[in-house]
Amino acid sequence: MAASAAEGNSSGRHQVVVIGSGFGGLFGTKELKDADVDVTMIAKTSHHLFQPLLYQVATGILSEGEIAPPTREVLSGQKNATVLMGEVTAIDLERKVVVSELLNRTLETPYDSLIVAAGAGQSYFGNDHFAEFAPGMKSVDDALELRGRIFGAFELAEIAAARGEDTEALLTFVVVGAGPTGVELAGQIAELARRTLKKDFKNISSRQARVVLVDAAPQVLPPFGERLGTKAKKALEEIGVEVILGAMVTHVDQTGIEMKFKDGRAQRIESSAKIWAAGVQASPLGRTLSEQTGAGLDRAGRIAVNPDLTLPGHPEVFVVGDMISLDHLPGVAQVAIQGAKYAAKEIGNRLDGKPSQGPFKYWDKGSMAIISRFNAVMMVGRIRMTGLLAWLSWLVLHLVYITGFKNRFTAVVHWFISFLGRDSSERTSTMQQVFGRAAIQRLEGGVADLVATPEELAAAEERRAELEATAAEEARLTDQRQRGVHHEEPEAATS
Ligand SMILES: Cc1cc2nc3c(=O)[nH]c(=O)nc-3n(C[C@H](O)[C@H](O)[C@H](O)COP(=O)(O)OP(=O)(O)OC[C@H]3O[C@@H](n4cnc5c(N)ncnc54)[C@H](O)[C@@H]3O)c2cc1C
Repeated sequence: MAASAAEGNSSGRHQVVVIGSGFGGLFGTKELKDADVDVTMIAKTSHHLFQPLLYQVATGILSEGEIAPPTREVLSGQKNATVLMGEVTAIDLERKVVVSELLNRTLETPYDSLIVAAGAGQSYFGNDHFAEFAPGMKSVDDALELRGRIFGAFELAEIAAARGEDTEALLTFVVVGAGPTGVELAGQIAELARRTLKKDFKNISSRQARVVLVDAAPQVLPPFGERLGTKAKKALEEIGVEVILGAMVTHVDQTGIEMKFKDGRAQRIESSAKIWAAGVQASPLGRTLSEQTGAGLDRAGRIAVNPDLTLPGHPEVFVVGDMISLDHLPGVAQVAIQGAKYAAKEIGNRLDGKPSQGPFKYWDKGSMAIISRFNAVMMVGRIRMTGLLAWLSWLVLHLVYITGFKNRFTAVVHWFISFLGRDSSERTSTMQQVFGRAAIQRLEGGVADLVATPEELAAAEERRAELEATAAEEARLTDQRQRGVHHEEPEAATS
């Protein structure tokens, strides 16, 4: 039976529930700091994730902790905020209740206002089976798995070379998707091969690694325009990345990837390490909301919201960030941050009897992507920049948005080590990181299959009584010095 979070709430204040602890969820919650409301943030991870730096975790520059601080710690100073971990499985707009689950424990949390910021996941454009061999990069788990796969490929090549076998496929890395994430990953893998690992192996030369960036689009970084896209492609090629454009991936398996070109040509690349950075699919919660309100969904599952980010017929429900379809807004952090702040302010205004702010207006602060050490592309308004200045601006801006002083400090240290030196500080990876996802996927009920249900725990209470009785007897024997003392059993009296 579902428990209700309302039992713990006796303040009588306006209840705001925020779904998600990403850019939208965190900034929305923080914006409500001084409002006369109680805020409950429900998210399926216990951390806030700075996704733009995931590729640096995957390539061993940063640790996962630096880009994923615990939400509970970040919000510990905010008196009106409660953090609950759990995956939201249902939103009942009629009853104004959010249903969440954590390891078989179901909780219902009522709300007066709701901000939905559940983001987006990876999309394989209907080919979800590609995921087994070409993981995406959306979460800390993904980045750690990729780290293991990338560094693991060099390990396997070292062994293959020692056995006299061919290493070409093992040293071929294919990144699918030439958006900012794909470009950054491909550039960084090339740097790893060329600089970081160049003295670390004895049987192979890491510099022989082939890094391929594939996209169906005719250019890299389409949102940056043709001129910056062309410059980015040239810069990637200069550091050894092979860029294949106009190529639609049609098949992925354990040992390679197949693609088809517009003219019907097909090509296969043998590669053990494939990475998918190609598409996004909004949270399935969008569909739930769409079914209850009639709001449309686009092909990426994004929900059409009103100009004030609310749902049709439900002014108390705001949807922000990667989940929304509104005026062709891009799926970037600033859309989520500004949208969540807008929603929080709107809630405060209503409670204070102030007028609405009017439709949500997005302020485009620009876009940037790193290509390699000391080289990035950047566009802010009409300004287009490439090279060192763009790279430095990237560093400073990302530093500003990393959450927490501690994380900013250690990130700077790691960037010094990686960019000025040739090292990578965070190369550790384990078998569990690489194979955990596949193992969990083979369980019918996912991780929930691995834990006891509350009912099973009740049964365990009986066993506890037994264990306590055994422990008491053990202690009595020790205290009375009866251990190791042989007692003759009195002989049975015979007559
Ligand atoms: C690899 C990568 C690189 C990127 N680089 C850039 C960049 O350089 N610049 C830029 O501006 N943008 C970048 N983006 C995009 C940017 O990160 C997103 O636009 C932004 O995170 C969207 O914020 P959000 O709050 O909508 O979603 P997210 O930040 O994704 O947050 C979603 C939250 O919802 C939670 N959640 C999801 N489903 C549920 C559920 N059912 N129940 C409970 N909680 C749930 C998640 O755990 C998470 O906390 C990048 C994204 C990726 C993946």
